[in-house]
This record gives sequence, structure tokens and C-alpha cells, in this order.
Amino acid sequence: MTEIGNSDLLNKRVAIIGAGPSGAIALTSFLRQGFKHVTVFEKRPVAGGTWSLDEDLGFKPDSTKLPIGKSRTEAQPPTVVPEEADSATFAQPFSKCSDPRELRYDESSMYPSVETNILAEFMAFTEKPFERQVAPCARKYGKQHDFRTHKVVRKYVLELFEGKEEYLQFNTTVEKALQLDGPGSQWHLTLRRHCYGSTTEEWWTEDFDYLYAASGRFSVPRIPHIPGLERVLKQLPRESVIHTKVYRDPEIFRNKNVLLVGASWSNADVAHAIADIANKPVHLSFNTILQHTVPAFKQPFIVAHTGIKRVTLNSNGKSLNVEFNSKEVISGIEKVVFGTGYHIAYPYLEEYLNLYGGIWHGERATKNLYWSTWWKHDSSLVISSIVTDGITWRAIEAQARATAYLWSGFPGSQPFTIEEAEQWENDRRKLNLRDFHLWWPQYAEFIAGITKVGTGGTRFPGQDIDTHSYNDLFIRSLTLKGEQWASESEKRCKNKLALQTYEQTSEQLEARKIVA
Ligand SMILES: Cc1cc2nc3c(=O)[nH]c(=O)nc-3n(C[C@H](O)[C@H](O)[C@H](O)COP(=O)(O)OP(=O)(O)OC[C@H]3O[C@@H](n4cnc5c(N)ncnc54)[C@H](O)[C@@H]3O)c2cc1C
Repeated sequence: MTEIGNSDLLNKRVAIIGAGPSGAIALTSFLRQGFKHVTVFEKRPVAGGTWSLDEDLGFKPDSTKLPIGKSRTEAQPPTVVPEEADSATFAQPFSKCSDPRELRYDESSMYPSVETNILAEFMAFTEKPFERQVAPCARKYGKQHDFRTHKVVRKYVLELFEGKEEYLQFNTTVEKALQLDGPGSQWHLTLRRHCYGSTTEEWWTEDFDYLYAASGRFSVPRIPHIPGLERVLKQLPRESVIHTKVYRDPEIFRNKNVLLVGASWSNADVAHAIADIANKPVHLSFNTILQHTVPAFKQPFIVAHTGIKRVTLNSNGKSLNVEFNSKEVISGIEKVVFGTGYHIAYPYLEEYLNLYGGIWHGERATKNLYWSTWWKHDSSLVISSIVTDGITWRAIEAQARATAYLWSGFPGSQPFTIEEAEQWENDRRKLNLRDFHLWWPQYAEFIAGITKVGTGGTRFPGQDIDTHSYNDLFIRSLTLKGEQWASESEKRCKNKLALQTYEQTSEQLEARKIVA
């Protein structure tokens, strides 16, 4: 079905960066709206985004890329674009040898054992439910555990692209995006085509009227600076220190002394996968922990520590001695897993956006994005999927639909001025939020705000969704996961020693818990 829009605007050229869930729903929304010239650039050879594992493509992620102590721009600096690219075209690209020193984090950050942490009825886009599945957790804990494995999610995203193959350009990275004449002018993209395993690449430029950045945010690992780590890394066996980005198989931890750094969701999964494989106890170092992951680590096989002060090489030359801020020392650590999150990086936009004040408020929070979506200076740029924490998929769906309406000049849509965007941002800043672009527990307010910009109304045409149920669905997702972990813990607390470890660990977790 084609929805109403201004025919001139529907002839404009739209570039979508990324063929993950966000790119899929954006393409679906733009085509339905009637846009005729849409291109999705995807740097990998497949769609599916982070849900398409490298192993499915026959590649193994590179575990040696560890940006220890690096800031966002140090970890993933903007690519140096060859001058010749600017006069090259898609038909006549500029070819050159690839530079093997260029650091990229193109791999998927997904591991095969992932089961979604959001209930299927809340995670899937409102217009298409997830395929039914009795996932392993449902088999074990009952049918209310209606989560999905990564394979179901991947298939779902691929299905959204079915019949739309002509709009996709794979193996094509957007390396730079800017407006040559500033906000209001066209988007000038520098593109690079490169196939896995190839030593050559092709460069060219193309211009677009609209730019939809759907490039995800879980790609560039964030690893804190730890004195001594870089030095000892060179002497340790391969894969002694990894980030969860490249975690795939619990077997590498068999009979090893393991330290998990960061009480994140991914490290919770790693902990449970290795509980019966690694040496006990599994050590956990963390500064603070979000309330909802506490039950994951309240386990009798986990011993909790403070942040790390320094590491040194053990006298056996194969493992680490770790000194914590509490002055406690453990030795003989053979595997370290950083579950310390990701930098939200848009290397292709960084330089241009910085000319206009950037979009970063410190290292982690955003600014200059109206409703955490549209660039304040020009709504022809959307940064999607910055809004995560439970509502991710519903957020990217609302962003895509609203943008399709806004960009097509849908009657009622509400283009905004810079002043309005600034007023909105100032008002929201007064709330003194921990993370400006995270909307829990204001999910309904966020969706309503986005919808209003797109349609001028309170809902999308043809859609009547109770967004007030979103908070409950998120809490229910977390509660079920919490119960699952608590039940694991109960089963493992078999003797006095286990119970004692459980109690000590619980005390540490509760003391440094952040209530969101
Ligand atoms: C281990 C793990 C588990 C997760 N579990 C859940 C969950 O249970 N529930 C949930 O809601 N979310 C979960 N997420 C979050 C996940 O990111 C989102 O579900 C979803 O994938 C976001 O979609 P996206 O399209 O924005 O990003 P992505 O899926 O990351 O897709 C972005 C795409 O853009 C491409 N790309 C990036 N840069 C460029 C460029 N310059 N040029 C061309 N292409 C580019 C990438 O190759 C990728 O294909 C999880 C994430 C991880 C890592």
C-alpha cells in the first residue's frame, strides 16, 4: 500500500546506511510511503545486521583488535578517503589496494547462544510478529519465557528484505558523509566497495537528498584503561583477553581461571555458559551494576571484586596477576572477558557533525538530535537505533515510520525549527538524566513525540498500539530473566560453601547496584 506524500519529495534520493533491523524497517517504511529512489548500503555481504553471525558466512571474528583505554574516535577513527574517490563514480570507481593497517570493527557482535532479552511480543516490530518458537529457555522454564534465539531474529530481518533486493548494495561501506554546502544541501557520500578476503577495493561518491543512519551501535568495543594490560598482552597466549564482541564458544574457557570484567548483559550470558566448564570460582570485576542484571551474577560460582587497579604477568608467563582497587590480589587468571560495552560510533559522520557542534555530550550521551532521532540542523539526517534499553525495536520502527511521513511531506507532519529542537533539548536536560538518549521509563512519551513529528497526531495511520503497556512488557521481560537466573542460583547453592559465596557476592552486588 502506498501512503500519501508529496510527489516531488517522493522522487528524492534516500540513502540508508546499514541492512540490520533498523535499515530493514526504514526501507519497508520508505517504500510503503512511495519513495522511489532508495538505496541501502551494507558493508557486509549479508543483511540481518548484528544478528547475522560471521561464522554463518564462513569467517571467524578477529579477537586481536582490543582498543584498550581508547576513546570513541581513537578506537574507530574516521577513514582517510583517497582524493581520487571524489571524481570517481559508481560506473567508473577508483581502484586501489586495501590498507591492512586500517582498523575496522565490521564483525557481528552476536554470539550463537543468544536468546533475546526482550519478550517476543514487545521486541518484534508491531507490523510483523516473530515466528513462533519454543526456545531453549521456554523448554526449561515454561512457555511464559517467550524469548527467541538469534536465528529466528536473523530470519525475521532477512524476510523483511525479501522482494526488495534491488535496493540493497552489499560489501559497500559509507566511509564519509557530508553536505558540501552545509545543512539544507545534498548529502555527499564517499563509498567503498570491498569483498571479504580481497586485497583491492573500489571508491566513488554519490549524492542523496536524505540520509538515514541505521548503522547500529554495538560494533566498536569499549575497553577501559588498565595499567599493565597492554604490556602483558603481548606475552600472553592468543585469546587470553577478549571482548564479548568476539565471544562465540564457551569451550575456550574449559578448565581455565576466568575473570569477567563488567557486569553487563553479555557477561551475564558468558558467566552462565561457562559455569560448568571453567574453573570455579569465576571472578567478576565491576564498579557498578544495573539493577536488572544483579540476579545474573548472584551466583554461588561467582566471586565479585571491585574495579581493577593493575595487572602483571604471572611468574609462569602464561597468566595474569590482578590487583583490584580494594587491594585484593588474585593470581593465575588465564582468560579475561571484557563485557564493558561499546562506543556509539558514526565514524563516517564524525568530522562533518563536529563542524556544527557534534552530537556528543561527553563520551556517552547525545545532543543536537531532536527526539533522539533527527539532526537539529537539518531533519534530512536521521540517526536511528541510538535509543536502546528494552524499547530498541519499537523505537527504530517509530523512527522509520515517522521519518517516512516527515520526509514525504505527509499532511500534518511537523517539520521543526532549530529553536524548537533546542527548546526541546533544554527542557529534557532539566530532567538531569543519566543517559540523555535512553528513554526508560518514558517509553510512551518517546513514541508519542516521534509519532507527532511524523503525523501531527497521536498514532500512525492504521495503527492503534497501546504504548502504555511497553513499560510493563519491559519489566516482565526482565522479571522473567531474573527468575530464570535466580532458579539457576538456587539449584547451585547445594552446600554451605556455595551458600557462603552466594551471600558474599550478593552483598557486593547490592552495595554497588544502580536503580534505574
Ligand atoms: C549480543 C547482543 C545481543 C542483543 N540482544 C538484543 C535483544 O535481545 N533485544 C534487543 O532488542 N536488542 C538486542 N541487541 C541490540 C541490537 O543491536 C538490536 O537488536 C538491533 O540489531 C539494532 O539494529 P540496527 O539495525 O540498528 O543495528 P545492527 O543490527 O548493528 O545493524 C547495523 C548494520 O549497519 C551496517 N553498517 C555499519 N556501518 C556501516 C557503514 N559505514 N556502511 C555500511 N554499512 C554499515 C552493519 O554492518 C550492520 O549490518 C543485542 C545486541 C547484541 C550485540
